[in-house]
Amino acid sequence: MTASTSKTIASNGHCNGTSRHGAGRLIVMSNRAPIRIVSEHGRERVEPTVGGVGSTFLRLLERHGGTWIAWSGGPRSPAPLTMPPGGEPRFRIMFAPLGEQDISDYYYGMCNRALWPLMHLMIPRSHFSRQHWQRYERVNRRFAEIAAREAVPGDLLWVQDFHLALVPQYVRERRADLPIGIFWHVPFPPEQLLRILPWREEFLAGMLGADLIGFHTRSYATHFLNCCEGVMGLRVDRERGEVTIGARRVRVGAFPLGIPADFFAGLAASDRVRARVARIRRAIATPIMILGVDRLDYTKGILERIRGFERFLEQHPQWRRRVTLALIAVPSRTKVGDYAILKRELDELVGNVVGRYSSEGWTPLRYLYTQFGAEELVAYYAAADIALLTPLRDGMNLVAKEFVASQVGDRASVLILSEFAGAAEELSEALLVNPYSVDQLADRIYQAVEMPPAERARRLGAMREKVHANNLKRWSGSFLDALDAAAGARLDDAVETRA
Ligand code: UDP
Repeated sequence: MTASTSKTIASNGHCNGTSRHGAGRLIVMSNRAPIRIVSEHGRERVEPTVGGVGSTFLRLLERHGGTWIAWSGGPRSPAPLTMPPGGEPRFRIMFAPLGEQDISDYYYGMCNRALWPLMHLMIPRSHFSRQHWQRYERVNRRFAEIAAREAVPGDLLWVQDFHLALVPQYVRERRADLPIGIFWHVPFPPEQLLRILPWREEFLAGMLGADLIGFHTRSYATHFLNCCEGVMGLRVDRERGEVTIGARRVRVGAFPLGIPADFFAGLAASDRVRARVARIRRAIATPIMILGVDRLDYTKGILERIRGFERFLEQHPQWRRRVTLALIAVPSRTKVGDYAILKRELDELVGNVVGRYSSEGWTPLRYLYTQFGAEELVAYYAAADIALLTPLRDGMNLVAKEFVASQVGDRASVLILSEFAGAAEELSEALLVNPYSVDQLADRIYQAVEMPPAERARRLGAMREKVHANNLKRWSGSFLDALDAAAGARLDDAVETRA
């Protein structure tokens, strides 16, 4: 990373801050910011939420100064917030205004019903509408205009995710000087599937406005490069991870998202969490506890997982009464039709399995439809003997890494992980499974319950090392370093061309 310098900008209301890229600050952009609006005594207050990637960006912004641009989550846009609340101003959160129609067409339509399923290779669930696409363009333009106005020379723009794919190009049109990076938090589909998107050229051109495009895995980056070549006819250097568009070169690479591993390990070792672990284990009351944790989303393979567990009980009756599957399903996108249907299917399937297998003093499956805070969640991670994380497709799956980091002391639990989760590229010592195969799911559960302690310890130890080494801080640092380098190379190119 380049050396940091201090900077004060007062004229246009920017907060003071310490810069990182040259003399600039950070402009972070994402669909939502890690804040929530709390109603109290008829008045509304904005509060930051804790945990996850969001808090890393908050820390980065506190360190470097700048602005976070996001949608508030509703049809009203609060005034810009000065952060941290009550402290010396370090950065601002600005809200992009979205009206009812924007929310319906851009967010529910284009993001949730078209791009989300397409990125996860769930083509039959993808619905494309020109009206939704046009809104997506307009909302992306609105975000871009705020960034173009807000950034001062030397600032650096870091866009997050598929909601804002066109922002890099729109900002570049107005602010060719800015270093622009975009990180893609979901998978990227192979060329043949991206071609299904009716606006595929515009979509790719939007992303290619960036200097650096980051993905979780090498295979997503390769898919993207193939699309640039196949769909756009651009020159691609796979070795260097580079696309040439006009006079610019765009860097494309894998930056696997990490977690704050020390935070999870520390929490797991704390007395409060250990007390909770003991309570959970008493309630579960079987020698083996298997855990599943997901947002209730059709990409997560929750129904398939339950069927695999059922097959395991069917094939290995000796294990009945000795295992319990605890399923934490976090409510998600409940206003979208596909999600409401999935909830009904899940309720029914859970009811069938519980009805079929329960016997006196034993319930094979515990189903918790709720969202836990960090302490309770880590207690579940630490209490489990086996994590069964089997998304049909997942950008990364942070839960897998959080589970590994939460195994402390002489714990040696087993991770069963879908081979179609981005995390499988790094966590190769997990028991990898094809989540579409009910038989294979049952086999892996059997393999996990029978695994000798030494093998469990060896696999877990190797994964723990990786999760601690490639943590969240390292992830953000390496992306920003690469963005510095990519933008620096672009400026060098421009100088050479002029010379
Ligand atoms: N999570 C949580 N409370 C819960 C269950 C999950 O805060 O009850 C968090 C979990 O810590 C993780 C995130 O939700 O950081 C899920 O991330 P993941 O990448 O696994 O899946 P996503 O929901 O982003 O598709």
